[in-house]
Amino acid sequence: MATGFVLPDPEDPDGQPFWQGTARGELLVQKCTECGRRRLPPRPMCFVCRSLRHEWEPLSGRGTIWSYVVAHPPLLPAYAELAPYNVITVALEEDPTLRLVGNLVASPQGAINEIDPSTIRIGEPVRVVYQQVEDVFLPRWMRA
Ligand SMILES: [Zn+2]
Repeated sequence: MATGFVLPDPEDPDGQPFWQGTARGELLVQKCTECGRRRLPPRPMCFVCRSLRHEWEPLSGRGTIWSYVVAHPPLLPAYAELAPYNVITVALEEDPTLRLVGNLVASPQGAINEIDPSTIRIGEPVRVVYQQVEDVFLPRWMRA
């Protein structure tokens, strides 16, 4: 069922393993097999050593809120119905330079507007949860 949300393409060649991971409840990042640098979002080449070789490494799914915004209209209709809602950037525990954008929710299947944005604090510990929207399992975040 179309929701009106703008969603990533889970069949994208670079990102497909990432989205297959979220569907299994795993948060995977690419790790260069030449120099060991992790990278996110997925891309073909290491930005440090230019190697095309990589593996996918599962991470803990823990991190801290690095920054956030509170979205207000004008927004696309599906989002306007939920505004105001939070959008957080999470610094991942294994490497805080790896940052993932998502929403802070109160429960794994919770709505993106159920947290009072005035209660969000930079540096709060969070853990990943996965919420299916159409055919994509989106990483979202709960307070740890
Ligand atoms: Zn490398």
